[in-house]
Amino acid sequence: MRIEANPAVCIGAGQCVMTAPDVFDQRDEDAVVVVRQPRPGPADEAAAREAVGLCPSGALSLREE
Ligand code: SF4
Repeated sequence: MRIEANPAVCIGAGQCVMTAPDVFDQRDEDAVVVVRQPRPGPADEAAAREAVGLCPSGALSLREE
């Protein structure tokens, strides 16, 4: 699977970072999401999926490969 983020839509709420801190981070200057692991390994996959579902702005999407 591959995670994609749309920074233009992200509102910097941070749920993704709280849910999957190894997969997501936020920029220091404006809290916009940064995807640290676009293809999460098995240990982070479930948390990454959960984070995509929790994002309040719909900035995150997930593509099965
Ligand atoms: S949960 Fe969504 S809106 Fe919040 S920082 Fe992550 S991508 Fe941005």
